[in-house]
Amino acid sequence: MPFDDDLLERTLAFSGTYLSDDGQVTIRRSLVRSAGYSGARFVGHCAVCSRAGRTPSTGEPLFDMRAAAQFAAAHDHGDVD
Ligand SMILES: [Zn+2]
Repeated sequence: MPFDDDLLERTLAFSGTYLSDDGQVTIRRSLVRSAGYSGARFVGHCAVCSRAGRTPSTGEPLFDMRAAAQFAAAHDHGDVD
C-alpha cells in the first residue's frame, strides 16, 4: 500500500499527531522554540527503531511535511519484530 502523505498532512493539521496503522510510528508537531528542535516542524518517533537503539529515544527532528512523510514511509516495518 503506497504511503498516503495527503492523509498524513491532513492528520497533522487537524490533530497535531499522526499514528501509523500498526501503532509503531508517531509523528507530532514540534513545539515552537522547543529546545533542541529549532527549525524542525515535526518530531518523528518509531517504537521499533527506538527499542533497537536506531533512533534517539527523544525522536527524530523532521523539518517539513516531506521529511515527515519520508520518515513514516521509512519506518513502515510491517510485522517485523
Ligand atoms: Zn523504524
